[in-house]
Amino acid sequence: MAGLGGVFNSLNLALFTYGHENPVKYYDLDGNEIKISGSKQDVREFISQVYKATGLRLQDQKGTLVQTGSRNTKIGSESAAKVFTDALKSKDVITVKAVRDDPNVLVDSFATNKVDVADTGSFFKKSNLLGAEALVHIIDERAYAAEHGGDFGPAHAHALAAGAKEVKGAATRTATMSPAYEPGAHLDINFYDAKGKVVDTFSFTLDKNLTPQ
Ligand SMILES: [Zn+2]
Repeated sequence: MAGLGGVFNSLNLALFTYGHENPVKYYDLDGNEIKISGSKQDVREFISQVYKATGLRLQDQKGTLVQTGSRNTKIGSESAAKVFTDALKSKDVITVKAVRDDPNVLVDSFATNKVDVADTGSFFKKSNLLGAEALVHIIDERAYAAEHGGDFGPAHAHALAAGAKEVKGAATRTATMSPAYEPGAHLDINFYDAKGKVVDTFSFTLDKNLTPQ
């Protein structure tokens, strides 16, 4: 996948596989993984959204996301699935704290690793691809930051390109709020092709928890 070429070490990936017979081998023995926390319900919701976006069957095993069984190729996007499987196997640890209707979080917070499943859920209600874009963005951003030293700017830029690919093969997307980042604001999300032409557009109003409606 073009967007991930510089992020993950393919040599390490090739050396690492999950076992299928022994449940103990589901654990990522070298400490490389996606860590998940939050209420049972919110973690379940996050896992179910990842399934919709990717077809990957994930389980929370003591705070670590592990893949159980093969991917359902009839659901979700293959390149979105690749972002997640690469993250599950990368040499870096990625942390996701599932929250719901956090009034300080719109979709996710890079600084605190929070992901608001009510916000991502509202994207899935409009479009599976839009939901996939959000999840891919979140995971790719963290994976890139873990690999490249933690700065938000470059990680966000990388994640924009990686996520936008999930929607009509777009090159990038913008998200603008007016009049400001606050309840009642309008959130407009536009996807653009490589020539800057809009290829898809979504509009929301933000509620008091900054959840797109
Ligand atoms: Zn970002």
